[in-house]
Parts: sequence; structure tokens; C-alpha cells
Amino acid sequence: MQFSEDTVSNMPDIQQAEHVLHEVFGFEAFRSLQKDIIQNVLQKQDTLAIMPTGGGKSLCYQIPALLFQGLTIVVSPLISLMKDQVDQLTAYGISASYLNSSLSPQEYEATLDQIRRNKLDLLYLAPETLLKGNVLNLLSGLNVECVAIDEAHCISEWGHDFRPEYRQLSSVTEKFENAVTLGLTATATPRVQKDIANSLGLADANTFVASFNRKNLYLDVVTKSNPLQQVINFLRRHEGESGIIYCFSRNQVDELTQDLNANGFNALPYHAGLGETIRTENQNAFIRDEVDIIVATIAFGMGIDKPDVRFVVHHDMPKNIESYYQQIGRAGRDGLQSDCFFLFSYGDAGKIRYFIGQKEDPEEQRVAEEHLQKLMEYVEAHQCRRIKLLGYFGEHFNVQNCGMCDFCTGDTPERENITVPAQKFLSTMARTDQRFGYNHILNVLLGSRRKEVLKFNHDKLSTYGIGKDLSRPEWKQIYRELMKQDIIVREFEHKSLKLTPKAIEILKGNQEIFGVIEEPAQKTRTKSSKSDIESLDFNRDLFKLLKKKRMDLARKQGVAPFIIFGDSTLIEMSYYYPQSKENLLGIHGVGRAKSKKYGDDFLGVIVEFCQQHDLEERSKSALPKSKPIKKTLNRNNRPYQVGQMYKSGKLISEIAAELDVKKGTVVGYLQKFIRAGHSIPSKQILEASELEEKDLEKIQKAFAKHGHEMLRPVFDELEEKISYDELRVVQLYLMARN
Ligand code: ADP
Ligand code: ZN
Repeated sequence: MQFSEDTVSNMPDIQQAEHVLHEVFGFEAFRSLQKDIIQNVLQKQDTLAIMPTGGGKSLCYQIPALLFQGLTIVVSPLISLMKDQVDQLTAYGISASYLNSSLSPQEYEATLDQIRRNKLDLLYLAPETLLKGNVLNLLSGLNVECVAIDEAHCISEWGHDFRPEYRQLSSVTEKFENAVTLGLTATATPRVQKDIANSLGLADANTFVASFNRKNLYLDVVTKSNPLQQVINFLRRHEGESGIIYCFSRNQVDELTQDLNANGFNALPYHAGLGETIRTENQNAFIRDEVDIIVATIAFGMGIDKPDVRFVVHHDMPKNIESYYQQIGRAGRDGLQSDCFFLFSYGDAGKIRYFIGQKEDPEEQRVAEEHLQKLMEYVEAHQCRRIKLLGYFGEHFNVQNCGMCDFCTGDTPERENITVPAQKFLSTMARTDQRFGYNHILNVLLGSRRKEVLKFNHDKLSTYGIGKDLSRPEWKQIYRELMKQDIIVREFEHKSLKLTPKAIEILKGNQEIFGVIEEPAQKTRTKSSKSDIESLDFNRDLFKLLKKKRMDLARKQGVAPFIIFGDSTLIEMSYYYPQSKENLLGIHGVGRAKSKKYGDDFLGVIVEFCQQHDLEERSKSALPKSKPIKKTLNRNNRPYQVGQMYKSGKLISEIAAELDVKKGTVVGYLQKFIRAGHSIPSKQILEASELEEKDLEKIQKAFAKHGHEMLRPVFDELEEKISYDELRVVQLYLMARN
């Protein structure tokens, strides 16, 4: 991108980066660490950026790429993503391209030609492409200023995705003398992080690790009882949204897909048994919003960077916390609230344990068992989900109430002392020689006359019938708690229950046990931690129309809808109703190029909708984001009329005379006008004041100290010498300037 001489000096600085953030990307501010990382890169310090998925890693090299005179190379193993990434940049008006094996010889040659002619700011490459002699030769003859190594964990053998070619990258970067190296990864494991820094030769000071807490993900774990019904209930709350459902096996995927379609949902399957073509088709349909739901095995997800995945469901249990974190991480990259719903059952845990038992290497078995155990601790935790989840990655989470998990939002029931019923259950197991399963034990406890009970003479046991004080569902809960807390285990083959050493302590009365007896109620969710944009009370009808427009444009241009605008952008449009290109630029995610390219299409929809529904534009700058105003002013009311009079150039005193009201009344109307989201020029306001310059200054200082919401503190500060009417004039002036 070309900037005029005066915006770019030799060494670009962070102000220029901020300028690009607003103008090109249409974003308001940097997210945490982006600024530090970009500053480092602009100063040509080799840097490692570790941020969770959706954290905003791409901007860390995209913005420097626009500020550097030379080329930025982005190395990524995810070939399937490159086209979308380049489409996305092109939509922002950035000149970017890619080289990988998916291009036809002509396309490949055309890109080489662009590179030779210095036409590009960014070039995406697969590592093996960069290592090719001809490509490397071509590039080393150019002014390469930045080499960004995406998915940098591929360099580590400890990572889950080691790529041998990545090992050779450090020798390659040496060839570009003028280039700064930036490694990027979402890997949370400290060991892998260290390994990357070592391999790339980076000092600690230049490693930036963001928190792995994904605030916008709601974490919910429920006991799996009737999975299909539970999934359907969940999906009903997410009608029309995009999401992924993970299953254990291919069969399960096929079955659930059919069941969901039969129930009126719009789902496609994805697993390794489907063949490459179908898999790609289904994945594309999902990315392009042609299907809402993908039901998949873990084969799905690498190389998906759809920003608006609104939910991830675990129909079956993942293998360990790392996979779980990675899978839920695919939700909510755009920062909007997204739901993670985990159906847990001990049966699933048993299945995973069974597979672990099949492993030949005892060390591998031990590690897998340990990982499973950590996941169990997460599932069974009676505390904020984020404590165990982030704790796994070495992060200490000590927020009192995250507001975004089933525990913190109060969906989890109370725990009580269940020592006595537990003792009854355990002693029945002991008296029947630990040879029976759950149902038999329960029949004994409840005093059943069933054949098997009588056959084994279990009606003669001292525990026969002593469990009648609890219902079957309550006993089921006791049983779950005993399993959960490793007091009993179920033998996989014969399904008989066995006591663990913990059980002995409880039977001896040396230890008490606490748990939940109450059947888990159907959860009702209260959405709590919304982002600024989500808390806007936007117009759903307009939002739908804008989504449709986005879909039409995306189809025509053969790109994914999110490449045109993200959901947050459409939400803001459906709240602020911008009527001009200029105001469109104030909307989140609208930069110059997108405004030019798509502005008219979207404005057309908004303007027409506003005319039909008699809606007024809201000014974005005048609105405090955290306090959205829900009502629009009716055109016929006084504040609106007064606002228009003032905007037409009349002075406050003139309006007061014309309407035969006090000046203070006009000031009051104008304040209402601004609070409803409109803006007025501030220049002529102080003209309505009778005070002298130095008093005005004093008042402004007092407002600066106390905030301009309340008059009383300012009145007091000025020793009650200035009237409320006068204070209101200055207050209006400050509101208009804000
Ligand atoms: P990552 O590569 O870390 O997974 P991305 O770079 O894809 O994350 O960014 C995730 C989303 O957040 C994208 O939609 C991106 O446009 C958006 N984003 C990134 N930085 C900002 C910012 N400073 N303000 C607003 N949105 C941002
Ligand atoms: Zn919590």
C-alpha cells in the first residue's frame, strides 16, 4: 500500500500503525499485546507472538506489511486457508497473493511476475514452496522486510503438528538480511513455546504471551442422558447460526447428521471416510454459510478460520483438554459470544480408557491416562470451568465470577453430604462380592423381589431394602458421584462394580463424601457477558436483510460471506443506521476500501429500510458504547425539532425566542437530542452563556474532575456560585464535543 511521503518516514511508528488500523481495517483500537508486538516488529526486533485462536495474530504482521516499503512473506502450512486469507486482504484493498501447489502453472507464473514487479505487500507461502531454489532465489533478490512464520509450533517436535520443513526455516530467514522474523502460534503448552523460541533463536524479552482465556466462549458441561434430544434442545436456541458438532466415530457422525436433518435442521457430515471431494464440498458449504451445522469427527477443523462459528458441541467426549480447547477454540473468533456445550458420560470416558488400554507402549499409555484424568477433573470440577481449563496450560485464573460458564452462572446444583447413602451403596457392593452391576445393587437397596435378587439370596442381606428413602433417580446420582470421585470403578468387560481404596475409607467412616443428589435440571441460560457490540439493541429485521445482501454479494464474487463484512459490522449497521459513506466509515470493520467497494450496496438496504420504518440515523461518536439507547426520537417531538433547528444554524437564544421558551429549556431539549444518539456542532453552544471566559474555564475544569453526567458535584466544587442553568450550558457543550 502506498502512503504519501508525509505519513511514512523511514521507520514507521505505532501512530502510523493505529492510522492503518482505523483507515484500512475500520477497527477502533488494538487488542491487548497487538500494539506491543507490532511496535517490536516495526523496530525490526525478532518476535514471537503467542495468542489464542481469534486473538488477532494476523494483524500483527498485516499492519507492518503495509507500513514497510518492502515485501512481507507469510509462511503457513495451511494451504487451504491461503485463498481465503488473500481474498480477505484484497477486500480490504491490500495487495496480497500466494504461492502453493494448488495454483495452476499459469496462476503460479502470474504471481511470480507480480513479485518480480514489486506489486505485492504480502505474499503467503507454504514452507516447502519457500524452500524451492527458484523461489528462494527470486525472493532473496528483493527487499524482504518481514518474514512471518504462522503456526510456528510446527517447528517443534513436541507440538501436535510437527513439520520437518519448518526446521529449515531459520536458515532461510538468514538470507533476508533486512527482514525481521515474527513467529506466531496459538499453542498454549509452555514446553512447545520454549522450543519455538529456541529454534527461532528468540530471547525471552521478545516473546509475548497473551492470556488463553477466551472470554466470549460460554462453557457448559452437562451429563449426557438423551443425547439426541439434548442436542436438539440446544440447537433450537441457535436457529440459523453456524456451528460444529464433534462425535467420536464416523458412524456416529452419519447417524446424528441424519437425525438432525430429519428434525428439520440443516446439517452436513465430515469425516475421513467420506472421500476428499465430498469433504471439501461440505467444508466449503459451511464456510460459505450454505449449511448451518457440520457434524464431524476430529478430522474437521484444521484450516478452518470461519470467524462466526457460534457454537461447538461435544456430542462425545474429546480425548484430552488440549483437543477440547482446540476444538472449542474454533468458535467465536470474531469475539462475539459463542456457546460450547459438552455432553459428558462415564460410558464415553470408559470407551476412551478402553482404547488407551489397547496401546502397546506403557509410557504412551501412562501419558494418555494422565491426560484423560485432567479432562475428568475439568468435567467434574465444582468451581469455575476456567480455573481447571486455563490451569492446565499453566495460567492462574483468579476472577471471582467469570460469568461465562455453567458454574458461575449458577447452573450447577448444590452439593450436600451424601456419606450415609454412599455407605449403603458401597456396603451392598461389598456384601455381594463386587460381582454385580449398578442395576442389581439398586434392586437390593430398594428391596426388589426380582428373580436374580432372590436367586442369590440377596433378600437376606442386611442392606436389603435399606435404600427406600431415596428414589431411583436419586440413587443414580449417588452412583454417578461415586464414579466421578473414583470411589468405585466399573469393569469394562463384565460391567461389574469394584471398590477402590477410597471406598474402604468411607466404609470405615474415616472420610465423608459430598455430592449432588438432585437430578440436574434442564438448564436455562442467561446470557451475561456480552461484548459492547452485542449489547446493542439492534434491529433484527434489518440485520436479516443485510445478511441476505452479504450472501448475494458473496455468491456473485465467489468468496465466503465473512470476507465481505463480519457479523459485528452488520450488527452495528442495524443499530446506527448510517446513511452516508462518511458515517459508514465509523462502523466497526469498515475501512476505506470496503466502504468504496460495498458501501453503496449496504447503504441502499439501510436507507430504504429506514425510510420504510421511519427510522433516524444514530450518531456513533455521541453514544457511550456501554449504555446503548433504545429509543429513537420521533420526528414530531420537541427535542427532535429543536435539534434540527440548531443544526440548521440557529443560535440557542434565537430558538428560545422563536418558540417562546427559556434558554434553559432549549438546552434541555438539545441534551435529549444528543442522548438519543444524534450529534450537534459544539461551536455555538457557549454563546448561550452569560459567563466570562475565566469562569467557563473553571467550570470545564470541574467537569473534567467529576465527569459531566452529574451537576451536583460541580455545583458544590464551585461553591454554589454558578447557577444550574449555566452549568447545563457547559454540560451540553461537553456532550456535543464528545
Ligand atoms: P488469530 O489468527 O489469532 O486466530 P485473527 O487474526 O484471525 O485471529 O483475528 C480474529 C478476528 O478478530 C478477525 O475477525 C479480526 O478481523 C478481528 N480483529 C483482530 N484484531 C482486531 C482489533 N484490534 N479490533 C477489532 N477486531 C480485530
Ligand atoms: Zn466461570
